[in-house]
Amino acid sequence: MSLETEQINELHWLMEMLHTIDVGLVVLDRQYHIQIWNGFMENHSGLLPREVKGKLIFDLFDEIPREWFIRKSESVFMLKNKAFTIWEQRSYLFKFLNYRPITGTADYMYQNTTFIPLISATGQVTHLCLIVYDVTDNAIHKKNLEQANQELSILSQTDGLTKLFNRSHWERCLAAEYKRWARSQNVSCLVMIDIDHFKKVNDSYGHLVGDEVIRHLAQLIQHHVRETDVSGRYGGEEFAIFLADTTCDNAMIFAERLRKEVAGGVVKHNDIDIKFTISLGVAEINAGIENHEAWIECADAALYRSKENGRNQVTAHLS
Ligand code: GH3
Ligand code: MG
Ligand code: MG
Repeated sequence: MSLETEQINELHWLMEMLHTIDVGLVVLDRQYHIQIWNGFMENHSGLLPREVKGKLIFDLFDEIPREWFIRKSESVFMLKNKAFTIWEQRSYLFKFLNYRPITGTADYMYQNTTFIPLISATGQVTHLCLIVYDVTDNAIHKKNLEQANQELSILSQTDGLTKLFNRSHWERCLAAEYKRWARSQNVSCLVMIDIDHFKKVNDSYGHLVGDEVIRHLAQLIQHHVRETDVSGRYGGEEFAIFLADTTCDNAMIFAERLRKEVAGGVVKHNDIDIKFTISLGVAEINAGIENHEAWIECADAALYRSKENGRNQVTAHLS
């Protein structure tokens, strides 16, 4: 074989490989007319090379933001540097359908694209090559992982029975609110709640009914609080609520309303009506309270007095 034939063969093979490689290859001229369009691009767009050759890329693919694309490409032409787009910034450059079986959840192919300057013999960048990678698998896996992590994080903050914040998360929120108070000095209150004689509920009706009572109270709390309030399940049948921007007088009104509603209502379980009451303690933040734990202790002390004084009542902590 002569050298020339060998070189022609090599060139032919190279062209064949570029055509069949599983990434998109596009060459554009200085005016953004398509010059080369490989098999990947043909298969995913449904457009043959002869149908796109010489056409302005923006005329064929109106999903490509013209101004952004030109700005990016011009820097490649001028600076002779590569440029990139990744799916996290822009899901795709070409809106191709995704028909991969494993990642069938995505409607469109996620793409990373590299812009490469093609330098002519005179040293000028006369053309631009786009390499388009299908990264749908990666993108979907990453998105699924992010969603799972988010769900896990919510789960780790939530009490399973009541769906309120669990104790550790609620305490973290309270610690943050305490710090905010230290800066802003905005008045806020803490309310601690404990179900009265709850052991009797469990003993008389069983643990499952006890759980139902706990859930019922959690729903009432959720119904009464405002969006800025933070409520959590503090213990077995104990709840804690942080009332943002609320004075002691107003927190007492809130607590009394909740107490009355609980005392006046019933929890229905099968054919049984269960009545129960709650005791509450309210503590307004003040300069003598040194940290969020001390704040909880104040509300707890007030709650203890409600219990001592006969239960089914609200007591404010006196600073
Ligand atoms: P009081 O608060 O009025 O002094 O009396 P109490 O009977 O409610 O006493 P205490 O607060 O000490 O009792 C709490 C009981 O709550 C003890 C425990 O068996 C029960 N308990 C704790 N967690 C759960 C739970 O998740 N489900 C049920 N069903 N019971 C629970
Ligand atoms: Mg208790
Ligand atoms: Mg109790």
